Amino acid sequence: SATAKPIVIIGTGLAGYNLIKEIRKNDKETPVIMVTGDDGRSYSKPMLSTGFTRNTDADGLMQADAGKMAIQFDVSIWTNTQVTNIDTAQQTITAEGVVVEYASLVLAWGADVIRPPIGGDATDSVFSCNDLVDYATFRAELKKRKAKKVVIIGGGLIGCEFTNDLLNGDFDIETVDPLGYCLPTLLPEAAGKSVQAALEEKGAKFHFGPLVTEVNHKDGALGVTLNNGDVLDADIVVSAVGVRPRTELAVQAGITTNRGVVANRLLETSAANVYTLGDCAEVEGNVLFYVAPLMACARALAKTLTGTPTEVSYPAMPVTIKTPACPVVVSPAPRDVEGEWTIQQEGNNVVAEFRNAAGELLGFALTGEGTSEKMRLQKELPAIMA
Ligand code: FAD
Repeated sequence: SATAKPIVIIGTGLAGYNLIKEIRKNDKETPVIMVTGDDGRSYSKPMLSTGFTRNTDADGLMQADAGKMAIQFDVSIWTNTQVTNIDTAQQTITAEGVVVEYASLVLAWGADVIRPPIGGDATDSVFSCNDLVDYATFRAELKKRKAKKVVIIGGGLIGCEFTNDLLNGDFDIETVDPLGYCLPTLLPEAAGKSVQAALEEKGAKFHFGPLVTEVNHKDGALGVTLNNGDVLDADIVVSAVGVRPRTELAVQAGITTNRGVVANRLLETSAANVYTLGDCAEVEGNVLFYVAPLMACARALAKTLTGTPTEVSYPAMPVTIKTPACPVVVSPAPRDVEGEWTIQQEGNNVVAEFRNAAGELLGFALTGEGTSEKMRLQKELPAIMA
């Protein structure tokens, strides 16, 4: 037929929806089909860890439902539809048994939560919050259980944000992490300990060093067993140990993957007319689970898909961590560069600068009032991908 084949986008998270928003700025014509395994509601994922602080539940976090998004961007959105196969030779996908031809295919299918190996008879009381559906389930469970005591597994970015947010919701929080202080993979010790001290002041209790090994029913609630022998009482458990790019379908389709789905700066994968962005993508070696990089990718890819091939560049993109008890801004140094921290500290206010032997700034970590140095230091940082 003469009908143009569509652009097919798999995923309606911030990556998928920002991409269609950018495409429609230049192009009102090209047919676009978006396919999502979830209900297609548009929401800002970073707000999942500020629900109690801002007094919004899962429904309150929804910005628009799939129907409204479809009308706004003149696209077809297939909700609750899992893509199960990609055929890069025929240029088709299979979604719930339906085969769809694509002119271009965009993989924006995000990342899966990592599930730590935990035993015991109550592992169904361990929840993670990586999307709006998860969050609705978690909030409903808190209510149903009349929960007061929450154990959080993981003291990284998501674990610390939930620690602070649930403290603001008046829960009793105990947070467990095998490393030595808050945000251990992002911050030098002085900064991590400042976050810890501020959260402890608000009532958080941290267990650094042990792993959680079991969650069991205990006296009508839960017992959370650590590998140092401690058993913590809880009504519910939150797992926040990190995410991993979804790659399985790409592997099946013969598309090159590494840590994520591998892409060049045009966001092209190894298969013709197949592109990727967001939490599932590895762009010239960079796997970044943040909003700023996916926005940069959405702008570049929209141009590429509408006829102007455009490479993405990543400026320095410091990350703000939503721990209002002790605000944090961090710009981690690239993975394998050599350098040293210099640290200025006054109470919980830290300015930590990571520089190489030539004195060049490669990263920084700021806490408390130290965050006021953000603009000055950001200007001095090199681009992640110029
Ligand atoms: P997702 O939002 O996960 O979307 C993936 C989509 O793909 C979904 O629609 C899903 O249904 C669909 N899908 C998956 N597989 C299939 C399939 N086989 N078939 C069909 N559809 C499929 N970043 C920041 O920059 N700042 C922050 O402050 C911040 N805070 C955060 C707080 C929390 C609690 C969390 C969890 C993350 C936070 N992040 C933050 C990270 C940021 O939110 C993510 O990087 C971003 O939302 C990822 O968007 P995405 O569209 O790539 O993935």
